[in-house]
Amino acid sequence: VPGITSVRVALTSQRSRRIVLAVASGKGGVGKSTVSANLAIALARSGRRVGLVDADIYGPSQPRLMGVADAKPTARDKVLQPVPTPYGVPMLSMGMLVAADQAIAWRGPMAAGALTQMMDANWGPADTLVLDLPPGTGDVQLTMIQKYRPSGAVIVSTPQDLALIDARRAIDLFVKAGVPIIGLIENMAGYVCPSCGEVSDPFGTGGAEAAAAELGLPFLGRIPLDIRVRVASDAGQPPAAGNGPEGVAFMGVADKVGD
Ligand code: ADP
Repeated sequence: VPGITSVRVALTSQRSRRIVLAVASGKGGVGKSTVSANLAIALARSGRRVGLVDADIYGPSQPRLMGVADAKPTARDKVLQPVPTPYGVPMLSMGMLVAADQAIAWRGPMAAGALTQMMDANWGPADTLVLDLPPGTGDVQLTMIQKYRPSGAVIVSTPQDLALIDARRAIDLFVKAGVPIIGLIENMAGYVCPSCGEVSDPFGTGGAEAAAAELGLPFLGRIPLDIRVRVASDAGQPPAAGNGPEGVAFMGVADKVGD
């Protein structure tokens, strides 16, 4: 049917005009979700229309980070409607599609199906989707690469060697699939003591920057380990949404990604 064909073409080209930024890490707990949330908000503050997709099946933390812990998306004609957040960044999360205690038991095809539903949701005028991937190199990553061809990937790592070894595997997956690596972010780098202000390096320092140089990839910046980041994140108020000093490093990283 000619009419239907042209609608398909229109939808496809609308999708392909949208920039998909994948945020990945080799292992969990390095701050990938924190970086994704703040990156999405910082990009929105710089004038983009941003949507956030939380595909981290092992720990879908975006609803809490984005201050919409109990929100549930609705569906219209079987198409999901992203949930609005207080930060002007609509979002969908694996955590909204499944009860928290079930998520981890999902098999690959179910997780891939959920990713498809979220990516094909009604994102309206969004020109950029920030995609918080699960750690590692599993089914969700493969579906995302094959079906949605991200415009680029941002890799989050702590300065620790172990995280970097895992991060290299994640980098390898994107490189082999021809997805450009936008760069590496070193998170939890340098701890500022809240009482005396002294800076120490519990996870070492400079590891991600050295790895980036060695791999010939851009280094996007260092985000300090700061108790205010953790407290604000737990309260559903990402630092990049405010004007405090703890948001500055996130804004700097987002500027480089935005370029
Ligand atoms: P991942 O998505 O890689 O599993 P999260 O973003 O969930 O990691 O972060 C893990 C924990 O570390 C969270 O409690 C988060 O608030 C905290 N965190 C992340 N980055 C920082 C930082 N720069 N300073 C302080 N705490 C951080």
